[in-house]
Formats: sequence, C-alpha cells, structure tokens
Amino acid sequence: MKIIVSIKQVPDTSGKVAVNPDGTLNRASMQTITNPDDMNALEAALKIKDATGCKVIVVTMGPAPAAGMLREALAMGADEAILVSAREFGGSDTYATSQILAAAINKVGVEADDIVLCGRQAIDGDTAQVGPQIAEKLHLPQVTYAADIQKDGNTITVKRMLEDGYMTIKVQTPCLITCIKELNEPRYMSIGGIYETYSKPLATYDYEKLKDHPLIDATTIGLKGSPTNIFRSFTPPQKGVGMMLEGAGKETCEKLAGILADKHII
Ligand SMILES: Cc1cc2nc3c(=O)[nH]c(=O)nc-3n(C[C@H](O)[C@H](O)[C@H](O)COP(=O)(O)OP(=O)(O)OC[C@H]3O[C@@H](n4cnc5c(N)ncnc54)[C@H](O)[C@@H]3O)c2cc1C
Repeated sequence: MKIIVSIKQVPDTSGKVAVNPDGTLNRASMQTITNPDDMNALEAALKIKDATGCKVIVVTMGPAPAAGMLREALAMGADEAILVSAREFGGSDTYATSQILAAAINKVGVEADDIVLCGRQAIDGDTAQVGPQIAEKLHLPQVTYAADIQKDGNTITVKRMLEDGYMTIKVQTPCLITCIKELNEPRYMSIGGIYETYSKPLATYDYEKLKDHPLIDATTIGLKGSPTNIFRSFTPPQKGVGMMLEGAGKETCEKLAGILADKHII
C-alpha cells in the first residue's frame, strides 16, 4: 500500500506580498512555503504510515527549487519524492496542471489499496480545482474537504466539513481525498529525518519521461494547453469608512431602516 501526496510550493503570503506593475505576483522576491493544506495532507499520510508502515510518496510540479520543499517532506517522514518539471509544463492553468500531475501519478501507479491525497486549495491559485481534476482524470472516486480520515482495510471513512456541519462518507481505495487544516497539526521535521533526507530517492519527471503518456499532449499542457487565461489582475480599491450609528437597539434599527429606505434599498 502507498499514499501519494501532491504538494505545491507557494509564495509565503504571511509576510509582505510583492506585486509587479502588471498586477502579477512578484514570486522571485518572496519566500516560499509548502501550501498549508498540503502540509495537512502530508501529515495525514504520515499518520497512516505510522499505523500501517505504508510507503508515502510526495509529488510536486514546479521549477527546480521546489526540490527543497520535497526534501523537507522527506525530512518529515515521506519515503520518496518526485519533482515534475519541464519548460513544456510552464504556464499551465489548473486543467493542464492536473493533466500533468495525473500523468505523473499514473506513471508511479495507483494500485487497489492506494490513496492519493491533495490539499483542498493552494493559497496562491486558490481554485481548489486541481485535486478533483486529478481524480477525474485517473477515474478515482474523490472525497473533498476532509476534516478526519479513518482507515479500516480498504474502506476509508472521511468526515467532510460543510459550511454548516459535517458529512461522513465511506469510500473504497483507490481514491483521492482533499484535505483541510482542521484535519490535523502537521509535525515538524525531525533531526533524524533531516539527516536522512539526502539518502532518500528524489526523482525528476521531465517532459521526456512523460511525453508518451496518453494524458500528455501539446494541446493539453503548458500555456498553449491551458483553456483559461488571466484577463486582468488588480488590487480592489479600498472601501471608504462605514457609517457608525449610535444609540440603543430599537432606535439604531429605526435609523438604519430610514437610511436604507432613503437610498431605495428597502
Ligand atoms: C493562464 C494561467 C497561467 C498560469 N501560469 C502560471 C505560471 O506561469 N507559473 C505559476 O506558478 N503558476 C501559473 N498559473 C497558476 C497555476 O496554474 C495554478 O497555481 C495551478 O494550476 C494550480 O492551481 P491552484 O493554485 O488554484 O491549485 P488548487 O486547485 O487550489 O490546489 C489544490 C491542490 O492541488 C494540488 N496542487 C496544485 N498545484 C500543484 C502543483 N503544482 N504541484 C503539486 N500539487 C499541486 C495541491 O495538493 C493543492 O493543495 C497560471 C494560471 C493560469 C490560469
């Protein structure tokens, strides 16, 4: 049994966010981190590894420096890492990204008792599309928004977080699950883990390695294979200061209703 965890390197938006004059993120001037939800996905995989001894493989698509993030995942306890990286993959939107990641995961092989884990969404792209798209392309059942995962043989019980409650779903492996921060508290790298990280396998899947896969085609990868284009990106104008109404409850409500009526809102 193995668990494949798809992790993405993202700009660290907890510090100063640098924006280019054209509105795009100035990624080069910002620190990078592992996407937070992906850390929860990795922790979930490592917990199952602790209980069952299964293998954990981390995969990312990104530029060469993303290998540093993969080494950190290995230091946390993952067994193998795969960096999917090629000029041909650059500029991919979510459709093309999931196409390439699905091909890479398929190349690793998803067997009967395997699980694929993703974060719910990346803090830069923020679409939450890549996990579900990978599942579709690999014909895997998917469960999203996982706040708890329990494994009993080939049956996985997932508690999904909804806006106003929870839903419990049972799914059979092989399956894909997207994870949220409520799932767990990611562990730190251990000293032993850091020591071992450079002796663990880190493979690179370039265009040559994936080009014969049925999902890989010039029309479905990279900028040319991306059906979405960023039309415009901008910082919304700051809103003015709101109006504060003073007074007791009933009196304030009457004032508010009067203002809204004057503006023909009610
Ligand atoms: C036209 C267009 C051009 C773009 N060009 C670029 C570009 O040149 N450079 C660039 O960096 N971005 C680019 N992007 C953004 C990039 O394509 C998206 O960040 C990417 O498709 C993932 O989407 P997301 O961030 O919304 O991920 P989400 O769907 O929110 O991510 C959900 C989960 O999917 C997994 N995941 C997502 N992306 C990856 C990944 N790369 N590796 C491993 N797992 C992943 C993670 O588990 C993540 O938690 C472009 C987007 C568009 C629309």
